[in-house]
Amino acid sequence: MRVPELAAVLAALLAAPFAEPAPEAPPAIDYAAERAVIARYQDANQRLQDAGWRLARGNSAFCPKVIPSIGLQLQDMASYGGPDIGRAALGLKRDFAVNAVAAGSPAALSGEFARNREIVRLEGFDPNDWPAKPPIDWDRTTRAHAHIDAMLAEHGGITIAFEGGGEARLVPVEVCASRFDLDAAGELAFADGARVIFPMLSSAYGYEEPLFAALLAHELAHNVLGHDAWLDRNGRRAKHVRRIEREADRLVPWLLANAGHDPEAAVRWMTRWGKENDTGLKLRRTHDGWDERADMMAAEVPLVRAAIAAEGKADWSVRFKREIDVPL
Ligand SMILES: [Zn+2]
Repeated sequence: MRVPELAAVLAALLAAPFAEPAPEAPPAIDYAAERAVIARYQDANQRLQDAGWRLARGNSAFCPKVIPSIGLQLQDMASYGGPDIGRAALGLKRDFAVNAVAAGSPAALSGEFARNREIVRLEGFDPNDWPAKPPIDWDRTTRAHAHIDAMLAEHGGITIAFEGGGEARLVPVEVCASRFDLDAAGELAFADGARVIFPMLSSAYGYEEPLFAALLAHELAHNVLGHDAWLDRNGRRAKHVRRIEREADRLVPWLLANAGHDPEAAVRWMTRWGKENDTGLKLRRTHDGWDERADMMAAEVPLVRAAIAAEGKADWSVRFKREIDVPL
């Protein structure tokens, strides 16, 4: 669980930019600096949500588990190190507001979910009324997202109301069952079965979009192929990890193609990543060398292209050759 690390970093960032106090005056808070800190985090998160949505939506016809989604991610000031500062910086009366909506999602298409717009009701509940446990509480964010998911699954939609009046009724679409969460503190992207955790400091943020999507697709592949549960059942020996890593790599061109990217971007991603990170044996026990990984991805590209030529889609649920004994 890396989310608390994000909280710690945000707490440090939010606490940091105090102006030098005058001898008797209380310290002044530089709200423009606070807003800039939050905006940097939100910009990185926006790119993650957009790219993640494109992959999870584009592959929904082939994923073994799909969920209804509106593409809305919330933020709760109680999860920040300084809720009062966060509220003042963003101009909120209470705690809940829009964090991001994924491009192309029902929430984005409604035009109602501007970043930081304050939210006062999720169908029957005002999440601001739920108790928060200081100092840094992520439970309410999790609970709010779970409540939205439950409404979508059980009632086929949700009405969300905004501070100052106005509401939006949203109807979901199906996406592969994986969230994408930004990690402000970690260095490596990873997947836990239900979420892709992606580091804000990832060098992939400097990559062109299809290469950024390729790294994300590798992590999404772990979730849609059930790798975490398979390792739980079979043990996390290096030999096993190597097999699921290979399988995730090989699925990347398929996932990219269904998201509207060139499947060849998988190979370009691994070649670039490999050259930048070829510092020796760090991943050698559990991963093949980057050049072998690029070759394995390249071998999938003609299969993906043939599938698209035949059926207009890259149906990996039928055409992808598994390396572990799990049916899709
Ligand atoms: Zn991996």
